[in-house]
Amino acid sequence: MLTKKVEKLLNEQINKELFSAYLYLDMANFYADKNLNGFANWFTVQAKEEVAHAHIFMDYMKEIGAKVVLEAIAKPDMVYKDLKEPLVEALKHEEYVTASIHNLMEAAIEDKDYRTKMILDWFVKEQIEEEANADELINHFDMIGSKGIYMMNKDLLTRVFVEPDFTI
Ligand code: MG
Repeated sequence: MLTKKVEKLLNEQINKELFSAYLYLDMANFYADKNLNGFANWFTVQAKEEVAHAHIFMDYMKEIGAKVVLEAIAKPDMVYKDLKEPLVEALKHEEYVTASIHNLMEAAIEDKDYRTKMILDWFVKEQIEEEANADELINHFDMIGSKGIYMMNKDLLTRVFVEPDFTI
């Protein structure tokens, strides 16, 4: 059964996913301002993924008759000092989201909410990929140095949005 506690955490998670989209759009805009359209593309696609994550939670909640409550989304107010900083902040942010998903998982298990646990299983796996992707960007950036940013930018331009393969 869905408890009030888990329902509240699910609503908070929806807000976190939507804030993630906001944050990544802000990062996309930062790179667009620097004429790095590939980096901007990568973060724009990432933002779409986050919106899709919010939809997965909302769809699930509606299906089980839970109440979706959309709260205000915080302003992304980071100021980036160089081209690498958004990449580092993106990884930090994904680690924060992973911790949040794990916290939600603990609550679901504690409340014997096996339906929510099943949904969260997918997200636990997804977060492994999210952190790996963010980490990979930083590693590439460090390897190539500033001369290779042009090539990396071209490479990142090829990323396209694919609807998450959400099957449980
Ligand atoms: Mg997400």
